[in-house]
Amino acid sequence: MTTHEAAIAPATPPVIRECGSCMLCCKLFPVKHFDKPAGKWCVHAKPGSGCAIHETRPNVCRSFQCEWTTNALMPADWQPDKAKFFIFRSRPNQYDILVESGAPHSWRSEKYYAPIKQIAASYADQGVLVIVSIGSKRIVLLPDRDVDLGTRAEGKEIILIRETGPQGVRYDVEIGGEDKNAPQEPV
Ligand code: SF4
Ligand code: SF4
Repeated sequence: MTTHEAAIAPATPPVIRECGSCMLCCKLFPVKHFDKPAGKWCVHAKPGSGCAIHETRPNVCRSFQCEWTTNALMPADWQPDKAKFFIFRSRPNQYDILVESGAPHSWRSEKYYAPIKQIAASYADQGVLVIVSIGSKRIVLLPDRDVDLGTRAEGKEIILIRETGPQGVRYDVEIGGEDKNAPQEPV
């Protein structure tokens, strides 16, 4: 496993990097506790100075850590507020890359794209999905291509297909029914 393949391997706390100037998850995640929609700044967020209710912030905010803060193999210069995206494990068989809508192509830049594809190929082989989310748009990263699902998969289950045939392994994705197991808030 190369450094980048290992970069988003299942995180094991404790936190090894402080968030510093970053507050990107305070914008991109929905927070039911405040009726805060995804993609809008939390009313308590003071970009540049932090959370205005830091001492009393809800548990959902206390417990969330993105991969950059917990995984030493993730490059230090992938700090989410600079990269304009962050990575987290939303469920056992899925990593999500949440991208700032104002910088929708950030993850495709030369610096990030090749390592991200390497990671996605490694995980697809293990049956783990890597999905880029830009607002309600979903792009599934497969070893041989990216599958742009547009907004069709919002709220739906996304299923990774992995079949072995005479030509080797073939990957594809399907959109399933309502995603009843979708995390309502970051976990
Ligand atoms: S996205 Fe990661 S680094 Fe940024 S504030 Fe959230 S947990 Fe911290
Ligand atoms: S309460 Fe604080 S930590 Fe939680 S989303 Fe709002 S600004 Fe971020």
